[in-house]
Amino acid sequence: MKVLFVDQTGQLGGGELSLLDIVKGTSHTAEVVLFSDGPFRKLLEEIPVPVHLLSAGNAADVRREAGISALLSAIPSFLKLRNKLAEIAKDFDVIYANSQKAFIVSALARRPGQPLIWHLRDMLQAEHFSSLVRLVAVFAGNHAADLIVANSQATLDSLVASGGDREKSIVIYNGISPAPFDAITNQMVDDLRTEFGWQGKFVVGAFGRLSPWKGQHVLLEAIKELPDVHVAIVGDALFGEQEYVDSMHALVQQYKLQDRVHFLGFRRDVPQLMRSVDVIAHTAIAPEPFGRVIVEGMLAQRPVIATRAGGALEILQDNKTGLLVTPGDAAALRQAITQLQTNKGLLQQLVTAGRQCAVDDYSVEKMVSTIDTTIVRFTR
Ligand code: UDP
Repeated sequence: MKVLFVDQTGQLGGGELSLLDIVKGTSHTAEVVLFSDGPFRKLLEEIPVPVHLLSAGNAADVRREAGISALLSAIPSFLKLRNKLAEIAKDFDVIYANSQKAFIVSALARRPGQPLIWHLRDMLQAEHFSSLVRLVAVFAGNHAADLIVANSQATLDSLVASGGDREKSIVIYNGISPAPFDAITNQMVDDLRTEFGWQGKFVVGAFGRLSPWKGQHVLLEAIKELPDVHVAIVGDALFGEQEYVDSMHALVQQYKLQDRVHFLGFRRDVPQLMRSVDVIAHTAIAPEPFGRVIVEGMLAQRPVIATRAGGALEILQDNKTGLLVTPGDAAALRQAITQLQTNKGLLQQLVTAGRQCAVDDYSVEKMVSTIDTTIVRFTR
């Protein structure tokens, strides 16, 4: 099969890192279209896989919260994108859209009868998208997708609750390879902890892009009353959410946490960093569609505290493979951190069971082979 994967961004979000694994592992002939440039393109080209870069014009400005005027003013850009994508896509057996905008443009661009699969990696809920954006996505999904692959049951449920067609939807969980985590030696951990001055310190790591709904501010609230706890914030604003980054820095000043909060920016050495912290906190205050960082924390053999919502509920079993706390509840997060600081038996139990669960249930090979066979099934 000749498969054209389409994604709206060249940034490295969770959806793009997952697509990278799919494109690396697929047995089909793959090419990729991106609507903006960035580090994702370089990683694809290193595989190597041909990448077509299309300019989105002001269609790039249509964001999650878009209303009618943003959408209307972007129509000419969407049409230009559609034409360019149609020209590339015409020779492929199937189009596989990896993001919402990519799916809408693909729905307009495909030739009559050309199969179209939409990999849905977002919760279609008011906390994440305007009602107009959800309406357009669900309408296009119901009318143009041959199959919708949701990255969790929570994501699929959000689609159905918004009016999406359950009959054409399936769940395929993200797979994540344990290899990069297993490759980290104690020496590498010691070196990194020395570099950051973390020897003898108890460090909680928060991994992921900085965005209000990811809730990293809740972690600052939680540790302001835990004077011996340090925090590593790993990630940056990827999609124009710089205001949130500024507000986080302001909070650190306000709470006088400058010595204990370490902003590390976007990093490519997540496995080493995860192995170098004591606890991993996932702090989303809105339901997470999947939450790769949760599985990664389990693979890194670090105890994970996650918020009780969305995909996290499918990945973590409270008190067995991790700890779950109420979204936005800083006191509960504080208590969970303290519990892991003081109860080493519980910590070890969570780490052992967590790693086993991550290895058994989130294999990259299984994800890729399921997607490969699904592509064949829906293209014939
Ligand atoms: N990540 C990264 N560098 C960073 C922060 C995060 O490579 O500095 C990766 C992280 O390891 C994970 C992904 O970004 O694989 C985030 O995926 P997740 O599903 O947690 O969130 P999303 O970005 O999809 O909302």
